Amino acid sequence: MKNQKVITWQAPTGETLNICTKCEKKLAGNWPKTSEGQEYCQVSKGLHKGHCGNCGK
Ligand SMILES: [Zn+2]
Repeated sequence: MKNQKVITWQAPTGETLNICTKCEKKLAGNWPKTSEGQEYCQVSKGLHKGHCGNCGK
C-alpha cells in the first residue's frame, strides 16, 4: 500500500526508516534501532505518503 502516511526517521549512521502514524503511537518513543544499535531518532522527512518499514503496510 502506497497511501499510508509515514514519517521518515534517520539514524546517526544515515540509515532511514519509514514509520506510519499507527506504528508511531504503538512505539510511543521506543524507536527501532539499526543493525548497529543506532536509534532512528532524527526526522529525515515529515509526514508524507509511503510504505511503513515497521508494519509493512
Ligand atoms: Zn506501520
